[in-house]
Amino acid sequence: MDNQILKGQAALVTGGDSGIGKGVALALARAGAKVVVNYAHNHDAATEVIKEITDIGGEAYAHGTDVSHEGDVQDMFKFMFEKYGTIDILVNNAGLQKDARFLDMTLEQWNTVIGINLTGQFLCAREAAKEFIRRGVVEGVSKAAGKIICMSSVHEVIPWAGHVNYATSKGGIMMMMKSMAQELAPHKIRVNSIGPGAIQTPINKDAWDTPKALEKLLTLIPYGRIGQPADIGNLAVWLASDESDYITGTTIFSDGGMTLYPGFADNG
Ligand code: NAD
Repeated sequence: MDNQILKGQAALVTGGDSGIGKGVALALARAGAKVVVNYAHNHDAATEVIKEITDIGGEAYAHGTDVSHEGDVQDMFKFMFEKYGTIDILVNNAGLQKDARFLDMTLEQWNTVIGINLTGQFLCAREAAKEFIRRGVVEGVSKAAGKIICMSSVHEVIPWAGHVNYATSKGGIMMMMKSMAQELAPHKIRVNSIGPGAIQTPINKDAWDTPKALEKLLTLIPYGRIGQPADIGNLAVWLASDESDYITGTTIFSDGGMTLYPGFADNG
């Protein structure tokens, strides 16, 4: 096991059965946190993550819940408090895309993406914040009463034609995160976002699964490689730890320079 920087802390990672969420769940567990791996449908994938965590001596269990359903989210937190006593770290990661050209986008595509990507983060953050405030700071565990990490995207700042619902959900996460951070800081709760660029996961498989697609994608990434879930996992550990205790209300981009407007690299 790595440096146990999060020892004694309980974490919930939504959408922890795949891609970035899986990378975050494994990294938090390696850092000593007990981890609830939330998932939407894929019980087998979640079970595999639990196995990977217990195989390295960590502690975790899986919980299937749709994060856009208020009552189910509340039940998930209740169950976590029965099992682990409390929550110290929430990683609001669950998300999906339902892409369409704007004129063809259905209300269902719009509502599904906003419901899971944005409302789902609101519902989970609210339950976590209530518990952080009830419990307060526990000396010897963390300097903060709790940490919320929102999985945003470079698309909180980069507009994305053909993905208006998704980009809107991420822009919304930015303001939700900052407003929560402002309101919750006096309670010693830190709220931040991670803004991943292109990370190699199932959500964007079309963008990397052929050499031609990958070559095109890399023109958007000055650092010259696609990101991996572990890149985001390592950042989440740091943002959840006391090493980043003075950081709240900030999005940290982990994107190989995608937000540096690479199209201007040759003087535009
Ligand atoms: P992924 O498809 O591998 O994982 C998505 C996860 O969301 C799955 O674990 C799934 O179980 C979960 N999920 C979906 N709907 C859910 C629901 N209703 N309730 C609970 N869980 C649900 O994709 P990923 O790339 O790992 O994406 C994770 C997050 O990272 C998303 O918020 C995504 O927007 C964000 N992101 C990804 C990238 C990238 O390049 N991969 C870039 C920027 C942001």
